[in-house]
Amino acid sequence: MTNKKLVTEFPVCYQVWIEDAAAHIFRVRLTLSDAKKYQLLQLPDWIPGSYMIRDFARNIVSISAKDSSGSDLEIKKLSKSKWQVLNTPGLISVDILVYAWDLSVRGAHLDQTHTFFNGTSLFLEPVELSDSPCALMIYRPAFEYAKKWSIATSMPEYSDSKVNPIDDNLWGYYCCEDYSTLIDHPVEIAELTTCEFDVKGVPHQVALYGKHNADLDRLAADLKKICEWQINLFGELPGCVKKYVFLVTVLGNGYGGLEHRSSTALHCSRQDLPTANMTKMTDDYIGFLTLCSHEYFHTWNIKQIKPEAFMPYGLQSESYTQQLWIFEGFTSYYEDRVAYMSGVIDQKQYLQLVSEIVTRVHRGSGRLLQSAAESSFDAWTRFYKQDQNAPNAIVSYYAKGKLIALCLDILIRQASNNKHCLDHVMQYLWNNYGVKQIGLKEQALEQIITDEFGLDLKEFFNDAVYSTKELPLDNCLNLAGVNLEWYTTSSYKNMTAKEPGSDVNLAATVKSNPLGAELVSVYHGGTAHLAGLSTGDIVIAIDGIKVDAASIESCISQYKVADEITIHAFRRDELMVHNVKLPPAEKNTCQLIASDSLESAQVKWL
Ligand SMILES: [Zn+2]
Repeated sequence: MTNKKLVTEFPVCYQVWIEDAAAHIFRVRLTLSDAKKYQLLQLPDWIPGSYMIRDFARNIVSISAKDSSGSDLEIKKLSKSKWQVLNTPGLISVDILVYAWDLSVRGAHLDQTHTFFNGTSLFLEPVELSDSPCALMIYRPAFEYAKKWSIATSMPEYSDSKVNPIDDNLWGYYCCEDYSTLIDHPVEIAELTTCEFDVKGVPHQVALYGKHNADLDRLAADLKKICEWQINLFGELPGCVKKYVFLVTVLGNGYGGLEHRSSTALHCSRQDLPTANMTKMTDDYIGFLTLCSHEYFHTWNIKQIKPEAFMPYGLQSESYTQQLWIFEGFTSYYEDRVAYMSGVIDQKQYLQLVSEIVTRVHRGSGRLLQSAAESSFDAWTRFYKQDQNAPNAIVSYYAKGKLIALCLDILIRQASNNKHCLDHVMQYLWNNYGVKQIGLKEQALEQIITDEFGLDLKEFFNDAVYSTKELPLDNCLNLAGVNLEWYTTSSYKNMTAKEPGSDVNLAATVKSNPLGAELVSVYHGGTAHLAGLSTGDIVIAIDGIKVDAASIESCISQYKVADEITIHAFRRDELMVHNVKLPPAEKNTCQLIASDSLESAQVKWL
């Protein structure tokens, strides 16, 4: 940290120091060259792309302010994430200490092995000065273990020899046109491994933190195909993307991603990455590539083409839209479709991925209670705050939105005699909304399909998006020469029909417990539900024979439909006895198979 006077041409300047890596504390100084009188400051309560109130301000452990002479200024806290500095107009600086121990793509994390942060966790927004250009200065920590660290971010670097670098330890100097840009470039600092590739003249970088033994050349080659296909779909990358960075945190067990305007923050498991001796695509690697593909597709679909409700984002409270089935669902549809169309995965692998989503939607009866539009609107309190009853209560706007996109793609192809498809709709949205920075009004997509593509799909939209009627998947896939088959499963862990089914099953997910098999989600209408078992119950025996999480499902699958069994289970510390007549296992595991008539199918989809 320095006390030398900061000289910068930026009206808003942020300086970041690693104050104490072992205690996970950042020091962040905000300097305003021309603060308003009684300057208001606030920290976002949520981060775009993750629709839940996170209250990042709870990690601010201290806040103080000084005027240009170095005298302390009084600060009044107005709400959980808003402050007022009692200052006169002019130069002020505000220091905060921020606790950073959230190892997620949404927050900030700091220890002796690395530093990761989103601006939403560290940077106070100066109200009324949010549109001013701002600078970010990151300072190199003195400790030994940071010697091999380097900074990865898509944030534009600033270089101007006229500017006083302030301090020999200045490590990274960046600038952004406004606050919303500043918080859309996460930063990773660590001993990184990297690979680079160019797509259409735009540099792309993958920067990985965490131990791994990955074949980065293979990863770069596959990602390049995916990125290229997407750029070809839209015709161009958004103009703000001067370079694109995949910031990857490699963990023993991790999964997740968050999109940004020219980068993405990702978590993956070590086994998701390709290795030099990998002879064929693994499901784990396909999962990682489709995650990258998903976040990259967001570069257009949500970062530029947005719901009107997100223009601008109101980060101090929930922003409601019924359209997440478009922005997450269509993105999910393209995540694996792009991998298939670009030749990274084959037809069988693609159909397998789509089958899993069909299974996911159909296994829960929540799809019969909540529409895709309702699921989008309630993302804040329901999708993002799921409990064990979620399969019976809600439908995912990702999964159902993906299936809506699938049906829509096929229906557009059918109605236009294969002249148009969903790709053309995405191009239209990019050219008329993304490029022009116009927000998509609620229900605008339906109107666009009617007005611009001359197709009457109103009834489809009403049923698929705003009602809980079943989607016309069977019909649509048949048009495309694909057969949809349904199977039973012996275990709700299985999302595919690869494993043999069984006449009866538990219809619950389980996890291991020292006493037996602990029930996680109990699906309505299945054996566990009809027996009177609930989430959290620990099943210890079936017909007097001990069971655990590993054996309970195979034990039940030995019985026949209508057999009567006795189940012993603990609820809290009380033993309960349940008798149940076994219902038939539901056929809710999907398998999609390309039919022999694929070539002559009415709709060219595969
Ligand atoms: Zn997404």
